[in-house]
Amino acid sequence: MTASNDRIDIKSLTPGELALLFKELGQPSYRAGQVFSRFAAGCGSWDELTSLPKTLRTRLDGMCRLYAPEPVRKLVSETDGTVKFLWRLFDGNAVETVVMRYRYGNTVCISSQVGCAQGCAFCASTIGGKVRDLTPSEMLDEVIFSEKVSGLPISHIVLMGIGEPLDNFDNVMRFLELVNHPDGRNIGMRHISLSTCGIIERFDDLAERNLQLTLSVSLHAPDDETRSRLMPANRGRGVDALFAACDKYFRRTGRRISFEYAMIDGVNDTGAQAELLASRVKSLGAHVNLIPLNKVEERRFEPSSSAAIRRFTDILKSNGVNVTVRRRLGSDVNASCGQLRRNSVGSENDVFRNN
Ligand code: SAH
Repeated sequence: MTASNDRIDIKSLTPGELALLFKELGQPSYRAGQVFSRFAAGCGSWDELTSLPKTLRTRLDGMCRLYAPEPVRKLVSETDGTVKFLWRLFDGNAVETVVMRYRYGNTVCISSQVGCAQGCAFCASTIGGKVRDLTPSEMLDEVIFSEKVSGLPISHIVLMGIGEPLDNFDNVMRFLELVNHPDGRNIGMRHISLSTCGIIERFDDLAERNLQLTLSVSLHAPDDETRSRLMPANRGRGVDALFAACDKYFRRTGRRISFEYAMIDGVNDTGAQAELLASRVKSLGAHVNLIPLNKVEERRFEPSSSAAIRRFTDILKSNGVNVTVRRRLGSDVNASCGQLRRNSVGSENDVFRNN
């Protein structure tokens, strides 16, 4: 492998930046469009860029890194067709991507970091901490190569895999620009959701971009005591500040926020918490998505019973809150993000044995 960090990550460049690069090399500007659309079609090596003269490819190789993630594991759910990938990145790190099949289209759930620094008490992604941010091209390749390798055309993207997107803000914004570009993969912003544990310092920056995506906030508890216990990101910020930031975001963008709420037995599923949740989200016209907790071996939490989930849902509904209970997809393939990588870290050989 010849890739190194100091070369330009060519697949992270916009068409405008590619045009500048080709200009510097004395090449016509149409090369930029040629190359950009080939990247969106899943080109992962200089050899595949046959529209460029060989000498130009050699020069580019000296300046730029061009890499395709390798699917070291691919698991397909027998019950619902969910496909889960573990990709090996250029530096040997691994991340997960999941393709879920919904009636309205196939949705890819992508990772934004290798590991995660947020430390949520129920989540597998954060167990080894954060290793590094993903580059824009690595996030783009999760979409493109998941589609290419699974053969499932992708229409929707959720940034709900490993990592905290707002802790990798610039790279995530660039990824969105690339994946949304009409000459590239051209996925509409209204088909994209970005999920955060509540890094509220970034909400204004996001609102400023005026993107039509859906901001999804991982809430998991409406009170500070429970939320701070589950999510260190709540400590020093607090639920009041979170809802104030959500309210401001909603007023500035007109985009309704969606709240994720993992139902944990005896922790966040009481009737009082449902009432409190309803009172807090109602003025936001927000949507609440209840997720039965996925059990993670290293974590001590259990999912709520179906009776508790039903009671919680009924209270929200009777308070006029728009609520859905997420279907469990891919539970036979460890689809709760972080679990597959978790099972592979520490033993790199394992990753390859499962090829
Ligand atoms: N860091 C971002 C995005 C990644 S997590 C965020 O926190 O939103 C995507 C979603 O899965 C989040 O709502 C997260 O809280 C949730 N999640 C993590 N572990 C889970 C588990 N074991 N069961 C159910 N949901 C989980």
